[in-house]
Amino acid sequence: MSSTKYVYLFGSHGTEGAAGMKNLLGGKGANLAEMCRLGIPVPPGFTISTEACTAYTTLGRERLLEMIRDEVLAGIRSVEAEMGKRFGDAADPLLLSVRSGARASMPGMMDTILNLGLNDEAVDGLARKAGNERFAWDSYRRFVQMYGDVVMGLKPVSKEEHDPFEVVIDMVKEARGVQLDTELDAADLKELVARFKALIRARIGRDFPVDPWEQLWGAIVAVFDSWNNDRARVYRELNDIPESWGTAVNVQAMVFGNLGDHSATGVAFTRDAGTGEDLFNGEFLVNAQGEDVVAGIRTPQQVSLVGSRRWAELALVSEAERAEHYPSLEELMPELYRQLIEAETTLENHFRDMQDLEFTIQEGRLWMLQTRNGKRTGAAMVRIAMEMLEQGMIDEKTALERVTPDRLNDLLHPVFDPRALAQAKPIARGLPASPGAATGQIVFFADEAETWAQRGRDVILVRQETSPEDLRGMSVAKGILTARGGMTSHAAVVARGMGKCCVSGCGAVHVDLKARTMTVDGTVYAEGDWISLNGSTGEVYYGRIATRDAELSGDFGKLMALTDKYRRLEIRTNADTPEEAAVARKFGATGIGLCRTEHMFFEGDRILAVREMILADGEAGRRKALAKLLPMQRSDFEGLFREMDGLPVTIRLLDPPLHEFVPHDDAGQMTMARDMGVSLGRIKLRVEQLHEFNPMLGHRGCRLGISFPEITEMQARAIFEAALNAKSRGTAVVPEIMVPLVGTIRELDQQAAVIRRVAEQVFAERGEAVHWMLGTMIETPRAALVADSIARSAEFFSFGTNDLTQMTMGFSRDDAGSFLPRYLKLGLYEHDPFRSIDQKGVGQLVEMAVAKGRATRPDIELGVCGEHGGDPASIGFFHRAGLRYVSCSPFRVPIARLAAAQAAIAS
Ligand code: PEP
Ligand code: MG
Repeated sequence: MSSTKYVYLFGSHGTEGAAGMKNLLGGKGANLAEMCRLGIPVPPGFTISTEACTAYTTLGRERLLEMIRDEVLAGIRSVEAEMGKRFGDAADPLLLSVRSGARASMPGMMDTILNLGLNDEAVDGLARKAGNERFAWDSYRRFVQMYGDVVMGLKPVSKEEHDPFEVVIDMVKEARGVQLDTELDAADLKELVARFKALIRARIGRDFPVDPWEQLWGAIVAVFDSWNNDRARVYRELNDIPESWGTAVNVQAMVFGNLGDHSATGVAFTRDAGTGEDLFNGEFLVNAQGEDVVAGIRTPQQVSLVGSRRWAELALVSEAERAEHYPSLEELMPELYRQLIEAETTLENHFRDMQDLEFTIQEGRLWMLQTRNGKRTGAAMVRIAMEMLEQGMIDEKTALERVTPDRLNDLLHPVFDPRALAQAKPIARGLPASPGAATGQIVFFADEAETWAQRGRDVILVRQETSPEDLRGMSVAKGILTARGGMTSHAAVVARGMGKCCVSGCGAVHVDLKARTMTVDGTVYAEGDWISLNGSTGEVYYGRIATRDAELSGDFGKLMALTDKYRRLEIRTNADTPEEAAVARKFGATGIGLCRTEHMFFEGDRILAVREMILADGEAGRRKALAKLLPMQRSDFEGLFREMDGLPVTIRLLDPPLHEFVPHDDAGQMTMARDMGVSLGRIKLRVEQLHEFNPMLGHRGCRLGISFPEITEMQARAIFEAALNAKSRGTAVVPEIMVPLVGTIRELDQQAAVIRRVAEQVFAERGEAVHWMLGTMIETPRAALVADSIARSAEFFSFGTNDLTQMTMGFSRDDAGSFLPRYLKLGLYEHDPFRSIDQKGVGQLVEMAVAKGRATRPDIELGVCGEHGGDPASIGFFHRAGLRYVSCSPFRVPIARLAAAQAAIAS
């Protein structure tokens, strides 16, 4: 026997865990223990640690059970003592819930078993004790169903098949001529149990276990197994949760929300998870068990009166109807509501964060079943952080740390263009489950949403209700629409977590999976039809609706101002047009870190001049074409300088291989031949000449300027002339001219000589000069290795981490898609190195080049302009590496500002 402790008790008879023990007890277990310590009523139980899960994974079932048996036994004895009931006692059974609980919350991803301990004898005992036969058989029916599914593995075998247990329920309901589960009586439920058991025997080949201990061991192992089910794996992948963490198992005395009209169950949030408003809110059902609320089968009621009235307004329910059929808990059970408010206030003040609570009322007594920091939309994240700061609950640094940088994306997302919306035709209204605007084509299956999205289509996933199996499909959809389920349904909670627009509980929508249609008010909408969703109002529209950028002000503005107080990195943007520059400035960019000049070459009929240059036989021909490009480039740069109004602008000379500018298909080549008045054969020949086996390592970057100095000349002239023009209009610009892809200082010097000569010419012609800087990208490994030498000529380095990554890793950024996903799945690399910088490998080159560059030129300006400049984890690295700025795409500027502040706080 090992001496490791695997089981930790909680309850009013003594609590061994605490909130700080999440790694060992999982979030749920640690917080159950903490609630007990705070004197909040929690049904007693114990937590089997995550270490037991890890032991199970390596040693297997038998060894695990051997290791935990005595401690579990002692745990059960302690629960029995507190509840005054015995586990396995047929006359008055102690029933248990067995639930998962990992370190990070993974809502609905792993398995749960309720009412464990029931069998054919105990069900009678329970019925007698509760004085309620129907309740006892309903509990038994649920238990057999859950156990059959989770532990014994009786599940649908195809995606079109309905849940086999639900099929049986529907059959019995039909035979009885009833609509609702609640209309089934004790005899019906008895029949269901018998049918369920027969179904299990027939499909699984084993009997449903009657021994409570056998049930318990089976359930514990099944919960550990669920750590590795598909949906849990997908969730971990999407949320960067390591597999090695494992889950804990919480075994707890059951309390019942389905013991009659003085019992209820619900979920609540201490603040609004959608908007962040400081308003206690939640949903509950009278005479129900926990899963009824989330499953969305009955329409839940609101806990508070304010919430109830707001709900009624949205659901178009009159006040009279609301008060009669959907009263709030505040109206229905005022004393229990008061106790609930007391508990939620204690918990929010204690954890100093918005809490997501589960509660059950059993015959007039309140029990708290769970508390955790609530998932929320990006908007709610910002508002809650800023309001808690104002309320003095948290300090500035905590407020900044409370917002996940990537989640700012939700706020930056577009809303419907009001004019387009005015024309749009609303077809239905559901609940505003997760804000934002989405427009896309209807798809009914999650896996098909994925394939459609891969083909570049915008999809709206329409489901009766969603389940954790739908996760991947939900993550690629523009929006989610469900026919059933409340604000706390799976779809709603998960969509908010993803920052994805969602309308849930839209009862007018009837989904027919076989026909692949949805019907609303008699109108049929088929797969592929366009619809639009407003996740902030719950409205569903037919057709496509144009969207508009979000307005950024209020709490977002305050948060952004706070980031500026703490961060040390400057945030520039990668922008090629004045429009992009304007967006980035609105988001707070303080310069352009990369203008990819080639992007301008595709605009309008410039491409003709570019192609003329490519087609030219000699320097003279190229110069003629370049002369046409010059005024266009100059006006591009003037636009950028105007927009940036004196802020630094880094302009990179032409970088991509020339073949990118010519068409490769027959039709395109034919058009090109016609446009340019040359033969198709000539075009084909040139395209062939430009072909390279490995263009990313071919004739590109400064190699182009070295082969064709006249291109560098034209670009340098355009930059200087634009700068002088800006100066004459009163804008002082300091252009930073950047040479791409150098590997040796000689390449840089060769290009520098061309640029300097042009500068002298232009300044002489105009009788006026501007200050400018010459620098280079560090994007080949060799450049990083000899950075001390390169810094002799470069006044700045900008790390091109896209190329630096592909060349260091030795895999192409365009082709890695064919094997990288498998690499990530196998854990060969932890992250996609093109998304988040490989700190150990590529990062070393960055650190080395920083040190070497500074050794030669102490005041060298250092920045990064690869995609990593917008990735929060990479930004943390660049902060530590001592860069001066990161440059990212305009929409990532706010994210980078926040990530930079968090990096500064962390160091
Ligand atoms: C880079 O390589 O990181 C870079 C910014 O240049 P590009 O992506 O244009 O190759
Ligand atoms: Mg590059």
